[in-house]
Amino acid sequence: MNIHEYQAKELFRKEGIPTPRGKVAFTVDEAVAAAKELGTPVVVVKAQIHAGGRGKGGGVKVSKSLDDVKTNAAKILGMQLVTHQTGPEGKKVHKVLIEEGSNIDKELYLSMILDRDTSCVAFIVSTEGGMDIEEVSASHPEKIQTIQVDPTLGFMPFHGRKIADAYGFTDPDLRKQAAKIAEQLYNFYFKYDCSMVEINPLIITKEKKLLPLDAKLNFEDNALFRHPEVTALRDLAEETEGEIEAAKFELAYISLDGEIGCMVNGAGLAMATLDIIQLAGGTPANFLDVGGGANKEKVQAAFKIILSDPKVKGILVNIFGGIMKCDIIAEGIIAAAREMHVQVPLVVRLQGTNVEKGKELLAQSGLKITPADDLKDAAEKIVKAVKGA
Ligand code: GDP
Ligand code: MN
Repeated sequence: MNIHEYQAKELFRKEGIPTPRGKVAFTVDEAVAAAKELGTPVVVVKAQIHAGGRGKGGGVKVSKSLDDVKTNAAKILGMQLVTHQTGPEGKKVHKVLIEEGSNIDKELYLSMILDRDTSCVAFIVSTEGGMDIEEVSASHPEKIQTIQVDPTLGFMPFHGRKIADAYGFTDPDLRKQAAKIAEQLYNFYFKYDCSMVEINPLIITKEKKLLPLDAKLNFEDNALFRHPEVTALRDLAEETEGEIEAAKFELAYISLDGEIGCMVNGAGLAMATLDIIQLAGGTPANFLDVGGGANKEKVQAAFKIILSDPKVKGILVNIFGGIMKCDIIAEGIIAAAREMHVQVPLVVRLQGTNVEKGKELLAQSGLKITPADDLKDAAEKIVKAVKGA
């Protein structure tokens, strides 16, 4: 799960991590009032969307007067902000963060992720802040350093010193600040079950203070039940209708831009299905994992989500019945296909427990369903049906 920058900074504040003062605003009037309240000569108006690259896209504006704030907030609120992370259609801005301006001396990069290869938490440190870390990684990989922290040991003072070294800090006070922020972020990461914390940029101000100027947090979905206060920060305006519906039924759904809707159980099988559709010359319209414990209702919900996408010209169902039985799946498919009056070609490949019973139900349903024996056969059939249509 993602949250907005202003929400991340509020959590930081709660945990004593330094952040610039600021307030969220939903209207131009609120923005001006928030700027007045801050009372600083420079105020930054920042679009709040779940995507990075806002600065380059025109979503971050430094404002030097209340009139400026008014103009900039009016420009940003309601705009369709396009960044390299939003796709060409962009994202509508519903709120802005009004923040006190900072005197930036230098922009740095700091993030934390789980390194699955080492089972450690990795701090990623770079002196090149304010730009995409992917870009730095491509052009100057030597400017990125990774410091691993073994969670059984925890964060130790030497980790802090290594991070300060990676930034090349010699000033004792800056070294101390870097070590402190790193330790605070480490504790934050565990306390909130994060899967990623990214501070880009982490700045050194002209007053020699180290300050997170941006904050991006990712939370581990499977641990959200432990954090109702985080779950409450979810912003439905940032999700597509399909994603909201999918979350209700605990389906893993990602919309893609192709033509063939996919309903699969298991993430690995879903990935393989996407690959094999492409191999057969088609394009997948979505990734959808109904999971091992799917029931008839879930299958029906999955069908509705797939069919509500106007790009879908055919559906491929690829289910391996293990925990989930093929006849139950078949019942779900039939019920959904009837209720939704499925017009597009439908290819179904079932394998596993009760497969014969499942196939029989499909055959007797009177619906136009093309059965397939294996994955390759299924992919070729649906691609042919879609192309022929
Ligand atoms: P992103 O583009 O979505 O990652 O948004 P950021 O919060 O990282 O802001 C983008 C850039 O705006 C930063 O790298 C800074 O250069 C600039 N910026 C943000 N806040 C301030 C500020 O308070 N003062 C100044 N001078 N620049 C700022
Ligand atoms: Mn940023």
